[in-house]
Amino acid sequence: MISTLINAFEDGIAALQTWLYVDAVQPLLYHLGLMGYDEDAYDALYWVIVGVVQIAVMYAVLRPWEALMPAEKWSDRRATRVDVVYTWIAKLGVFNIAFFFLLQPWFDHLQSLMAIYGIPAIELETLWPGVTDKPLVSFLIYLVALDAAGYWYHRWQHRFGIWWELHAVHHSQRQMSLWTDDRNHVVDTLIQSAFFAGLSLLIGVEPGQYVALIAIGNLMQSLQHVNARIPFGRVLERIVVSPSFHRRHHAIGYGHEGTRYGCNFGVLLPWWDMLFRTASWDATVEPTGIRDQLPRPDGSHRTYGEGWWAQQGHAFVRIAHRLRVTRTSA
Ligand SMILES: [Zn+2]
Ligand SMILES: [Zn+2]
Repeated sequence: MISTLINAFEDGIAALQTWLYVDAVQPLLYHLGLMGYDEDAYDALYWVIVGVVQIAVMYAVLRPWEALMPAEKWSDRRATRVDVVYTWIAKLGVFNIAFFFLLQPWFDHLQSLMAIYGIPAIELETLWPGVTDKPLVSFLIYLVALDAAGYWYHRWQHRFGIWWELHAVHHSQRQMSLWTDDRNHVVDTLIQSAFFAGLSLLIGVEPGQYVALIAIGNLMQSLQHVNARIPFGRVLERIVVSPSFHRRHHAIGYGHEGTRYGCNFGVLLPWWDMLFRTASWDATVEPTGIRDQLPRPDGSHRTYGEGWWAQQGHAFVRIAHRLRVTRTSA
C-alpha cells in the first residue's frame, strides 16, 4: 500500500520533471551555453519539484491549522516571516541531492578499495541479503537507522559550544511556526547534508529512496514546529515525534540550556529519547527561545538577529567570541 503510494508519487514527479526539463530547463541551458550541466540540472530539478510540493502541502494543511487552533496566541506573526525565507531556500535547495550525487563516485571508489583489502561492507544488502528486494521493508530500516543517527547528531549540536552557536539560529525563534524547521545556519545545513548523504551511501540507500526519505522526514519536521494544537494521544506520540514533544525541546529552561542538558532531541521517532532517558512528555506550553534573549533579570536581552543575513553573521561573531575566550583561559 505505502510502497504503491511512494511509486505513484515518484512516477508523477518524474513525469513533471521530464516535462519541465524538456520545455523549460534544457532550452535555457542551451541558450546560456551550459549544456555540460544538463544531467546535474535534470537531477536537481527533481529535488526542486519535491520542495515545491512540500511547500504547497504546508500552505494548504498546516497554515490553516495554525490560524484555527494556535498553541500560542500572538498579536502578529512578524517574527515568523524570516522563517518563510529559510523554508523557500531550504526546500528549493539542492544541497542534499548535490551531496548524494557528488559523493557517490567517491563511495564507489572506497567500496572497491574495501573489497580489495577484504574489509566487510556495512550495506544493508550485505547484512541481510535479499531485503532490498522488498522496498517497503528496506525503506523502514533506512528510516530508523538514519533517525538514530539524527538523534545523536542533534545531541552533538547542543553538546559542543561552537556547533551550538550554529544550532542557536534554529532555537532563537521565539514565535515557533510551521516554517521554523528550516531556520538553520547555512554551515550547519551543509554539514548535515554531507553527514546524511555520506551515511546513506555507506548503508546502500538507492537515490530514489533517498529523495523519498528526505522528503517525508522534512514534512514531518515541519509538522513538529507548527503552532497548533494537534492531539497525538499517548500512544501515537510515543511512536512518532509530536508537535508538543518537539515544542518542549524548544522551551526555555526545559528543552535545552546552553550545552548543559536538554530533552526531546528525537528527529522523527521519540524512541531514542526514551532509550537514552532524555524524553519529557510534559505538554505544558512554555515560552520558546533561548534564555539569554529574555529581558533582565532572567536573561541579558541578547539579540540573535532579525533578518537572514544578521542571523547568519551573529553566529560567526558568537563563535569567534567563544574561541577567543577558550584561548584566553588556556
Ligand atoms: Zn535543538
Ligand atoms: Zn526544532
